[in-house]
Amino acid sequence: MRTQEFSPSDRVSPVPGSRVLLTGAAGFVGSHLTDRFLAAGCEVIGVDNLSTGRLCNLEHLSGEPRFQFREHDVVDPLTVDGPLDWVLHFASPASPPKYLERPIETMRVSGEGTHRLLELARAKGAQFFLASTSEVYGDPSVHPQPESYWGYVNSVGPRSVYDEAKRYAEAMAMSYERSGHVSVRVIRIFNTYGPRMDPEDGRVVTNFVMQALEGRPLTVYGDGSQTRSLQYVDDLVEGVLRMMRADWCGPVNLGNPEEYTVGQIAELIAELTGSESHVVYEPLPQDDPRQRKPDITLAKQRLGWEPRVSARDGLRKTIEYFRRYASVPVATGSGA
Ligand code: NAD
Ligand code: UDP
Repeated sequence: MRTQEFSPSDRVSPVPGSRVLLTGAAGFVGSHLTDRFLAAGCEVIGVDNLSTGRLCNLEHLSGEPRFQFREHDVVDPLTVDGPLDWVLHFASPASPPKYLERPIETMRVSGEGTHRLLELARAKGAQFFLASTSEVYGDPSVHPQPESYWGYVNSVGPRSVYDEAKRYAEAMAMSYERSGHVSVRVIRIFNTYGPRMDPEDGRVVTNFVMQALEGRPLTVYGDGSQTRSLQYVDDLVEGVLRMMRADWCGPVNLGNPEEYTVGQIAELIAELTGSESHVVYEPLPQDDPRQRKPDITLAKQRLGWEPRVSARDGLRKTIEYFRRYASVPVATGSGA
């Protein structure tokens, strides 16, 4: 895939002056969205309980008059002064080890949290945007996954705390849409990575990059033949903005169809970091999906969107970010 990023003239913007409430603002994706909204002239109220997010993702915004941060759990009642144009719900642990550590909180943020935020949107006459996930497809038997596929989820397995909670959130959002109470948008995000991920969040890109930079073995779970499709965060942010502009509730897949085995991801990261780390094989977590790749036909047709950043280019930028956390000098390896 050739990288030709969205140029400023290609990019869409939310309406300048919009007042946006964004949950999960201190997280990886939320902090990038916050930057983009502010750059477009919006006012942003960022809400986050800092359970998996980090204030350092927002520290560059201190003194920004159009941004206010509220440390708050969205499961609890939330009052907001003044009007709102959008309520965007991005709060939820997203890394499997993190949501498995917090099973009840994960169910509640997408269950009660989604309900509360839909009611807030209704009271304010705002539109509602839900960050759902490719995990609604579970361990898919249809490949690649179109939005019309209903998924294959183990409702009593450990991952169900995330998968089923997001499925419930989608159902809740769609019921408000159908009843005419709130105009909603639902996106299904596929594995997304980039700067500002928590280096200790346990996801595949962060684990492999940190292990490679620190000269530790790369921990491949299972035999590494399971696949994932990696999306760079800037592409996701552009997709979110386009979906906000669309006169359509979705759901729509936002992901990069470039598909790799986990073993190939390990090799690519080792090459790009110039690391000599070797691979060690560890047990495959229960219900780990065997394959994942988005069918993005709908996103292309309805949003005029497709990802622009290759895994190679996105990973290079991500590795530069993580070098700050690793105690190693810049590698001189071929790819870095
Ligand atoms: P993240 O963990 O970096 O961000 C999530 C944020 O939500 C964190 O800042 C966390 O503190 C906050 N949060 C969690 N529970 C909360 C609560 N009850 N009240 C207030 N704040 C709360 O993860 P991310 O990768 O940025 O994911 C953002 C959203 O995108 C999540 O909803 C996730 O499910 C969705 N998503 C992400 C991916 C991905 O690959 N990054 C894929 C699919 C879906
Ligand atoms: N994985 C791995 N080693 C790691 C972390 C993850 O092999 O150190 C695998 C994991 O088993 C899964 C894939 O990489 O098959 C993606 O895992 P991640 O936790 O990033 O997200 P998921 O797509 O499973 O939600």
